[in-house]
Amino acid sequence: MSFEKPRVRFAPSPTGQLHVGNARTALYNWLFARRFGGDFLLRIEDTDVERSEVRYEAQLLDDLRWLGLDWDEGPQAGAGSGEGKEEGPYGPYRQSERLEIYREHTDRLLAEGRAYRCFCTSSQLDSEREQAVTAHQPQIYSGRCRNISPEESAARAASGEPFAVRLRIGPDPIAFHDIVRGAVEFAADAVSDPILVRSSGMPVYNYVVTIDDALMRITHVIRGDDHLSNTPKQVAIYQAFGWPVPQFAHLSTILGPDKTRLSKRHGATSISTFREMGILPEALTNYLALLGWGAEGGTRETFTMRELAAEFTLERVTPSPAIFDFNKLHWLNRHYLKLADSERVAALARPYFLAKNWLPEAGDAQAETWFQQLLTLFLPAVDQLDQLPEKAHFLFVFDPAAAIANEENAAVLAIPSARKVLDEFAARIAALPAPITAEAFKAVMNEVKAASGVKGKELFHPVRIALTGAHSGPEFDKVVPLMEAGAQLPLPTPIPNVQKRAELFLSALPFFQAN
Ligand code: GLU
Repeated sequence: MSFEKPRVRFAPSPTGQLHVGNARTALYNWLFARRFGGDFLLRIEDTDVERSEVRYEAQLLDDLRWLGLDWDEGPQAGAGSGEGKEEGPYGPYRQSERLEIYREHTDRLLAEGRAYRCFCTSSQLDSEREQAVTAHQPQIYSGRCRNISPEESAARAASGEPFAVRLRIGPDPIAFHDIVRGAVEFAADAVSDPILVRSSGMPVYNYVVTIDDALMRITHVIRGDDHLSNTPKQVAIYQAFGWPVPQFAHLSTILGPDKTRLSKRHGATSISTFREMGILPEALTNYLALLGWGAEGGTRETFTMRELAAEFTLERVTPSPAIFDFNKLHWLNRHYLKLADSERVAALARPYFLAKNWLPEAGDAQAETWFQQLLTLFLPAVDQLDQLPEKAHFLFVFDPAAAIANEENAAVLAIPSARKVLDEFAARIAALPAPITAEAFKAVMNEVKAASGVKGKELFHPVRIALTGAHSGPEFDKVVPLMEAGAQLPLPTPIPNVQKRAELFLSALPFFQAN
């Protein structure tokens, strides 16, 4: 690598949500810049006016910040630093604000004869294309307008005849080196005098991206391999301007588990969805980093951003497609949930419970402590935070009729000893002073065991169903104190204590189960 300070960019189009593919592109650019002390730029490619939306741009910036990918130049660079930092020296960083720059460059190419006006109408071009298809020929431009004299060209333009602008491509193949793929070559035919500016006056993606990358002094273009076939056109544009060509690194496609291109069919793919699901950003960046890159010599799987930034190189990016593995992402998320500060996790988990109306708005210190206790119990059982309400559901929603109607529960309750166990249990529990401690509860269970002569799961399952609605779940010595403490709190949906649950459950049991 040269010793020039690297300058890389992430250049999203604000036409939709930020997906894992683009997020990985952004991450690799960021890591590369941080690793080699370079600059990471954010450029908004919003020339597609119909599909670009301001809300998508705002969401993009938000997603990037959430992932921890701060940019050195670009819209709102340095925002929040309190220094009122400029966007950067190479702005504007929004393509829609650079149209004048593109126009000047088009004038230059036309004046130098490196580009020419093409007056072909769309019906002419369509029929050429049809002929090529019929003749099984490549669909390349015939070059009809290539040799119109500069005078005639200028006169027709001045008379108001609509025209596009095309780049004049030479006969030689276009070759470039790709850091991930090695040598790449395209025949000149594959590029055939590409359009730079449409007859509407709008410059095309390949053209503006090249001008911007050159003017913004980009040294390495790291992007998805869906752009590989655009690269020869861009290389030809650099050459037409006499600009140095940056290095390219095209990242492989991300596939779903069925080896087709990752899409919504495979599950969540947008960064905001992962965030809503309760995936931690450090889990997602760690996962995306490994999706196509691996540290030297290692099978190591967990990396902080700092560690990644210290080890990342493009040479270790694989050219083969990466397969998105939700299980591995979950594994990493569980890893980071364990490491995360408990107050941070509580703040992230609270909204899911607020949405259910199960917790008071923040501010109640006792409810907060209780919620922390709840999280200690349930966090180890979830892959992502939005699964918590389902795990804790039984604490908040006590529905004996539903529990009794459940088929598996019904089988447990139909065992003749079940009723006796529950009667013995309810009578003893009712006699205890509330709140019931884990020790007192254990003592009651021992007494029930002695009095009924029932032990093991035939003893525990009916009681568990009575209190929690299911015959399996977390240990009683954790659940009981949580239930008892929760029952004493002013929760928006009050929860019953153990005694109340036993009483309500028994009164809901059908008559035929009486012994
Ligand atoms: N706006 C393009 C995209 O979102 C950028 C491609 C590039 O990095 O050159 O795909």
